[in-house]
Amino acid sequence: MARPLSVCKHFAHVNEQVVIEDMDLNVDKDGVVSVILDVRPYKRHQRRCPHCGKRCPGYDSMSASPRLWRALDCGGILLYLRHAPGRIQCPDHGVVTSAVPWAFHGSGFTKEFDLQVAWLAKYLPRSSIEKLMRIDWKTVGRCVERAQLHLDPDADKRRLDGLVNIGVDETSYRKGHKYMTVVVNHDTGEVVWVHENHGKSVFEKFFEDLSQEQRASIRCVSGDGARWIDDCIKQYVPHAIRCVDPFHVVQWAGDALDTMRTQIWQSLRVEARGIEKQIKNNDDPQEIRRLRAEQQVRELQATSIKHSAYTLGKGKENLTSFQSQRLALIAESQPALYKAYQLKEQLRIILKMPIDQDRYFLQKWYWRASHSRSQVIKDLARKIKRHQENIFNTIQNGLSNARIEAINNKIKLLVRRAYGFRNLQNMFAYVKLICSNVDIPLPNRPVVSLDRPVGR
Ligand SMILES: [Zn+2]
Repeated sequence: MARPLSVCKHFAHVNEQVVIEDMDLNVDKDGVVSVILDVRPYKRHQRRCPHCGKRCPGYDSMSASPRLWRALDCGGILLYLRHAPGRIQCPDHGVVTSAVPWAFHGSGFTKEFDLQVAWLAKYLPRSSIEKLMRIDWKTVGRCVERAQLHLDPDADKRRLDGLVNIGVDETSYRKGHKYMTVVVNHDTGEVVWVHENHGKSVFEKFFEDLSQEQRASIRCVSGDGARWIDDCIKQYVPHAIRCVDPFHVVQWAGDALDTMRTQIWQSLRVEARGIEKQIKNNDDPQEIRRLRAEQQVRELQATSIKHSAYTLGKGKENLTSFQSQRLALIAESQPALYKAYQLKEQLRIILKMPIDQDRYFLQKWYWRASHSRSQVIKDLARKIKRHQENIFNTIQNGLSNARIEAINNKIKLLVRRAYGFRNLQNMFAYVKLICSNVDIPLPNRPVVSLDRPVGR
């Protein structure tokens, strides 16, 4: 028959690691039950440096005040390990608190707990994890970072080896006040490098982190149209091909369209206000009636344009019937804006075409856009002309726009999700872990994973 203490060790996943010296059962005032196991690591696990794992001479006696580590709940019962780790003197790392075999350095949880939280963070929404594991979101961030460091300790170096096609993008977080730069390996879909802020100096840091050999293997660098990307390529990887991601080009067209929409909306409001003044200075009741009607039309048009940002941003095939009607109204009342919408849609379709058709249709598109009466659209056309060869480079070198856009959206989503983490390192660890396809192990599973989960 298994002995109760040995069963308890299995509950806390510390078999072969500790001696259980005592145990305590507590029921708090809310009726929540917890079990505390007083443990002592086996001799071979004692006095180990948490950084290098070396056995070191003790510095303090073991009389330090005891600490608690939370293990995974056992049948809904809170489970803790209690131990008072002493300090040791490592020849390389100085005086440090000795490592304990059941937890990562600096963690108040067992290794299984940290890993399970990281696994859950991959799949579950924030509120579910908080409720299930009884921890807040900031703690989730710290668990994820520890799990990432443990599962992929050399990841940061390894990821920079053998890069061929890479993409750089800046993502905003903290409601657009702060930026981070993310470098992606297009061939694996992995995030290889993340850094706070954006711009030339940050991208330079990325290339500085690479060895000569690592730089030599890079073939394509894609991104938006920013000049600092060109500058960095010229300086560090002059042999590489500069690519512009087509989805960024469609974004430029979307932004231009939105600028135009705002301009039209504002000019309609100004017109309505002008009519208001005319009404005040007028005595003829018939004329006033006519002006009132005109003013009302302007105001209605202005409101409709104000609320059409979402409609104009969508492709025709994705519009709801209401949005289609709104678009039909715009086509009638604001032909210039409708034409700009059509140009945006055409551009989106052209950039999905094979390279030979691409050139032909983009040429035609450019002619139409550059002859637009709107300065915004003319500027857009000029910008696209300037980056034309870089756009073709992307298509010619087989960088799939859909894939680049998908990973870009995934990162943006992850960043938004990780926004509540306490610090940037937690956020970076989360983005890297989720994008890396590293398998996060769960406790008490067979070492060799089965093809199919075992069910009954
Ligand atoms: Zn050490």
